[in-house]
Amino acid sequence: MTFATLSSFFAKLEGITSRLAITEVLADLFSSASSTEIAILCYLSLGRLAPLYEPLEFQLAEKMIIRVIGQAFNVSEDRVRETYKEVGDLGEVAEKLKVKSEKLKVIATTRSSKLSMLEVYGRLRKIAEENGEGSQQRKIEGLVLLLHELDSVSCKYVVRMVLGRLRLGFSDVTILDALSWMKTGTKTLRPRLEQAYFVRADIGAIAALFKKKGVSGLSGIAAKLGVPVMPALCQRLKSPQEMIAKMGRVAVEPKYDGQRVQIHWAKRKGQSAKGKAKGVFLRAFTRNLEEVSFMFPELGRITADLSAREVILDSEAVSYDTSSGKILPFQEIITRKRKHAILEAAAKVPLRFFVFDILYKDGRSLLHLPLSNRAALLEQTLAGGKVLMKTERIVTEDPNVLRQFHAKQLTAGLEGAVVKKWNAPYSPGRRGWSWVKYKEAEERTAGLSDTLDCVVMGYYRGRGKRASFGIGGFLVGIPKGGHFVTISKIGTGLSDEQWKELRLRADRLAVSDKPKEYGDIGKTLAPDIWTRPSLVVEIAADNITRSPVHSAGLALRFPRLVRFRDDKGPGQATTMAEVSTLYQLQGK
Ligand code: AMP
Repeated sequence: MTFATLSSFFAKLEGITSRLAITEVLADLFSSASSTEIAILCYLSLGRLAPLYEPLEFQLAEKMIIRVIGQAFNVSEDRVRETYKEVGDLGEVAEKLKVKSEKLKVIATTRSSKLSMLEVYGRLRKIAEENGEGSQQRKIEGLVLLLHELDSVSCKYVVRMVLGRLRLGFSDVTILDALSWMKTGTKTLRPRLEQAYFVRADIGAIAALFKKKGVSGLSGIAAKLGVPVMPALCQRLKSPQEMIAKMGRVAVEPKYDGQRVQIHWAKRKGQSAKGKAKGVFLRAFTRNLEEVSFMFPELGRITADLSAREVILDSEAVSYDTSSGKILPFQEIITRKRKHAILEAAAKVPLRFFVFDILYKDGRSLLHLPLSNRAALLEQTLAGGKVLMKTERIVTEDPNVLRQFHAKQLTAGLEGAVVKKWNAPYSPGRRGWSWVKYKEAEERTAGLSDTLDCVVMGYYRGRGKRASFGIGGFLVGIPKGGHFVTISKIGTGLSDEQWKELRLRADRLAVSDKPKEYGDIGKTLAPDIWTRPSLVVEIAADNITRSPVHSAGLALRFPRLVRFRDDKGPGQATTMAEVSTLYQLQGK
């Protein structure tokens, strides 16, 4: 397959909004690919060079791309900037200038369509992987050369990709649908594909295996060291009675309020990031599947806490006051986001990892085992030390015992408890009823039993007092199928600091047109500034009411911002199905 062919598919995908039509076009693309090509196609169509969890980025700022375009098409950087101002997208700028320069024969006519997709991919990868002294210059040169050789449409998509702005309006979920479509002309195999993908979250690897061996290839998929497993998530139930009725014998654990971290560790030399302990392979993933081992230098010291050669552990990282032994508020952990100040933050706010599950040990995937067995294996594996901590746990079938354990956690200043079916396997993603959270509000007789994690879709300019912040309200939504539906317009309950921060974050995500994934949104709701779906905020509300205005058909009453959820992406926001459950649960 040539890169020009791929670009023509991208152009087609860009022009359609219907999810089904997108699925069909993607299925077409996948049908025409070999099993080597299909993995790469999955990454590229998501605007990436590697699986979502691999932190491989181009690291080229807009300023550099302007320079690249100028050099490639022999025009001044000012001219590139002017055209950029006119059309608002550097990809289109590159396309336009390429067409023009070919007409004027400023550069040699493109060999264009000859370059294969795999070759372009290899060259893009090389550009992204350049590092060390002079790497910026080498990146620029590599890209200039590539733009010389590619056709105009390909130039457009390559530039967008390098800027991290390909955004064709679909996500990995649609890719799974398209893979099923490729083989059957329906979406029927999607659940099987999703199951495999949740166990090994590398969309390219799943696609390649499926292309080659069909469904039978998927059955061999097990947890693999270095590739994240989609973390198991909690469902909601109203009362301890309901929990026991639905799950039977359960393990009950404290619900720590920190950050979910999946730890992949092995006692051998691996491709661990720079600065990591020697002789140790280490990767840490958030629940969003971001690779964040750089955030946790503590994990370089866990060898003494483990009795294993290789493990995948599920844990919650919590800030910890070493003198009082107390767990500190969630906010403290956020200081770790600043790459340059990690060591300082690590000294100031030490972290502990409360380990509550083991997914893999010494070459063996443990996902299929019941929790009772995994708990025993974890007990044997975890010596419990200075960094990795054992999670307290009781096992019961008595709602009263459950209630007491929960009350004890609240007294200790924790969020509540997590209740887990004792004989259930580990189920990646939010499926089944194996894990349920039991938070403070669950016991209230009226009102919402939980907060909602919503996606910021845009904001309204401020009037009155808030005019100085430039933001006076914002629109939030939740995922439904492959789209997002609106559920609340929020205009109160934020501190001045929060308004400012929201504005700053939203501006980074601003787009000129309503993103395709937002579907139809009534005029009265349309924000002044649209943002692409990325920022997740936790919202509390008094209750959920029916709404003719919001596209969810439901709306939040008295919504207020609880906090920014940097640990979650739009894929982990509260779903439409969950909000419907909350709607039914309220006031029960
Ligand atoms: P929520 O984010 O409110 O849906 O709650 C689920 C989150 O609670 C998980 O993703 C973990 O980050 C966190 N958590 C804290 N303690 C535990 C525990 N003992 N077991 C599982 N998850 C826990």
